[in-house]
Amino acid sequence: GTYNFSAGPGVLPNEVITKIKNDLAAEENSNYSILEISHRSPRFENIIKHAEAQLRDLMAIPDDYAVLFIQGGGSLQFEMLPLNFANQTGQVAVLDSGNFANKAAKAANAVGKKGVIVASSREEKYRYLPELPHDFQSSDYDYLHITTNNTIEGSTYHQSNLPKTNGHLVADMSSNILAEPYDVTKFSAIFAGAQKNLGPAGVTVAIVKKDWLAEQKIENVGPMMRYQTYVDKDSMYNTPPVFSIYALGLVLDWVKDQGGVDQMYVNNQKKAAKLYDYLDQSDFYQVPVQGTDRSITNVVFTTGDADLDKKISQDADVAGLHHLAGHRSVGGFRASLYNAQPMAAVDTLIDFLKKAAKEN
Ligand code: PLP
Repeated sequence: GTYNFSAGPGVLPNEVITKIKNDLAAEENSNYSILEISHRSPRFENIIKHAEAQLRDLMAIPDDYAVLFIQGGGSLQFEMLPLNFANQTGQVAVLDSGNFANKAAKAANAVGKKGVIVASSREEKYRYLPELPHDFQSSDYDYLHITTNNTIEGSTYHQSNLPKTNGHLVADMSSNILAEPYDVTKFSAIFAGAQKNLGPAGVTVAIVKKDWLAEQKIENVGPMMRYQTYVDKDSMYNTPPVFSIYALGLVLDWVKDQGGVDQMYVNNQKKAAKLYDYLDQSDFYQVPVQGTDRSITNVVFTTGDADLDKKISQDADVAGLHHLAGHRSVGGFRASLYNAQPMAAVDTLIDFLKKAAKEN
């Protein structure tokens, strides 16, 4: 078979793709399809309400958090968060654990706030997770921004090793939301672009603590950039990405059918452990990230030889193992093992890697 190891947009459950095809086929003979419906129609109202209810259920999101559907990707969240929440000190603390955290710090500066990197592993190529300095003063900042899963570098602040702060904690969960459990109440805001673990590209989920939002005095920020607009208008101030939200709802249904986040976590740990075990005992491949810092959704590795890595990922592509090359900024390999990735993909990959190790 062919397997898709893309870091995003990534693999979606076959059942979801089949359901979408069937829905579209059935609608061929009706007046119009999901792609053509009004976002004000009862059908879509049900879809968006259902998606919100499913996400609340799967993540145990309490009522005092708003669940919002926003366009613009994770990157827009890098700008919206400081615009909405960096209002007292004007400063955002960032744990610089990877390229996307780094971008979030720069985005805060770009919107006129201050993104302050309080700890970084950038000089060490993000091989490990930076920790909060002992003298970190949460009151110096409006919030602390972390990336739970560093998609490019393959490292994760799991629930058990989240940084401890007395202040507001904001998490970019773009690449591991619903892949492993997190206690939502530990965070004041969470966001995730859908295109890795939640659905197709085009919609980003934001989970925001209502009290925190209500405290904010925000000036000179337009309605599209304010979370409050999305709260007040049920994410329909303007036209939402109808198809993406419909598909997101189907993915959430699938996760629920599979047994929810706890079951996803069990499956994902098994998949990742199998691959890491193989890589660790091999003297041909190395994994730069060690121990509990390792990601279960993005497994990053290398032969140590950039040209060889490139050749092997090209061979992998020919063999039907697609998108194995690491991010263009780091090279090497990256096997993304999102919820919908079957164990068979890992088994096939390991067989391929063994063969490549022998032949090269
Ligand atoms: N944050 C993380 C952890 C990501 O992996 C990505 C994209 O890969 C982003 C943010 C940026 O998301 P988007 O491309 O939706 O703006």
